[in-house]
Amino acid sequence: MRVIHNAPASAEPGLIPVASYARTSEDFRKRDSHGVNNQHRINERSARAHGCVVVAMYTDNGRGASRPGSERPGFDQLLADLKKGIVYEGKPLRGVVSVADDRLYRRVEDFARFFEALTCRPGRVQVDQDGIRDPHTKEALLHAVRSLAAAGAETESRSRRVRDWHWSRAVDGMPHSGPRPFGWQEDRITLHPVEAALVRSAIEGRLNGKAVRAVAREWRELGVTGTRGGLPKAQTVTQIITAPRVCGYRANHGTLLLDPDSGSPIVGQWEPIVSPEQWRAVCATFEAGSRSALRGGGAPGRTGEKATPRYPASGFLRCGAELAGGGACDQKLGGGKGRSARSPYTYACKFCGRCAVSGPLVDRAIEELLFPTSGAGRVRLPRAIEQRWKSGEMGFDERRKVIASVFTCFVVRPGVKGNQAWDYSRVTPVWKWADRVASPVHAA
Ligand SMILES: [Zn+2]
Repeated sequence: MRVIHNAPASAEPGLIPVASYARTSEDFRKRDSHGVNNQHRINERSARAHGCVVVAMYTDNGRGASRPGSERPGFDQLLADLKKGIVYEGKPLRGVVSVADDRLYRRVEDFARFFEALTCRPGRVQVDQDGIRDPHTKEALLHAVRSLAAAGAETESRSRRVRDWHWSRAVDGMPHSGPRPFGWQEDRITLHPVEAALVRSAIEGRLNGKAVRAVAREWRELGVTGTRGGLPKAQTVTQIITAPRVCGYRANHGTLLLDPDSGSPIVGQWEPIVSPEQWRAVCATFEAGSRSALRGGGAPGRTGEKATPRYPASGFLRCGAELAGGGACDQKLGGGKGRSARSPYTYACKFCGRCAVSGPLVDRAIEELLFPTSGAGRVRLPRAIEQRWKSGEMGFDERRKVIASVFTCFVVRPGVKGNQAWDYSRVTPVWKWADRVASPVHAA
């Protein structure tokens, strides 16, 4: 692949000039240019975050790095320029940024060539999403060797690349790649004349106090079906009319996307149905729980959440598995059937697949937090509530309301393989009114 010689920014004083390298393998997303463009975009973000500036971009699109003899012209040019320490027009070059080491090398030979070129002069840096490294140190070398050897990290970085792809698409304001959203045509950009009119009138009706159930009934009577053929229910209508996309706003993983520079919401490329003011107004007519979990900035989160939770802690649990690059996975754990009498149901992270926990373990941990058997505890709920909870008198919905009134969520740490004993400390509560309490405690 050719070397792109239009650098996005000239070297600014005080910033370290680095080269952005991007590579996709043969099969990655049919070799379209999104993959490499998004890597470059992420690289610019990483560089900026660590005091660097991208002065040249090198690209190998649709080029594998696993097999010997695979040609990578972009990589070769990068090494040549690194050796000289300058890019075109004589601009200085002092390092490299990539989304991960495996973009640069997967084979020992390439690793050796890369490291030699990078460290042939002092003062060089290597940047990725996790930070900036000094490649001249022994630690950096060990780090590089580890990432070369870490076959286990393969899956991790792959899932991260996919997630970054979504992040980058979202920043672009590109429409979702999922099923066609109700209200738009197959191109996901042009309004569907009939559906868009229905959505608009549903929003206006809601703002005038109309029940979503009534709207759903009208839609069914009109013979309207969802884009996957389902009959509209109240929950469907709620999700459709509170989705940020109705006013053109973009969300990703349940968080309204804000432009990192201006702080304003990122606007998609599709035609909006209503104004942002109308969307905010209609969201405000719903309880937070009825549209979807609130995350970040008080913005309505992802739509398409299951209408009725089936397990006591559904929706309250977040994955505490650590990603290879640091930070927690933080995705919601989903409930499902378990395989043992002791754990007839479980919660698991479907995103990273590294955190699963017994349902009854979680429930008991929550109960102990709510009604501590020893010590004073963090909250004191009325005795009547405790009695009804413990006697089993309290129904499913009310239990969930009690939980929601005390906790924002729970972070669940992955278990230790082979350890059969229940470890309640895996469930860390995030209390509501966290500012009123001293420090986080673990369940029992
Ligand atoms: Zn996870």
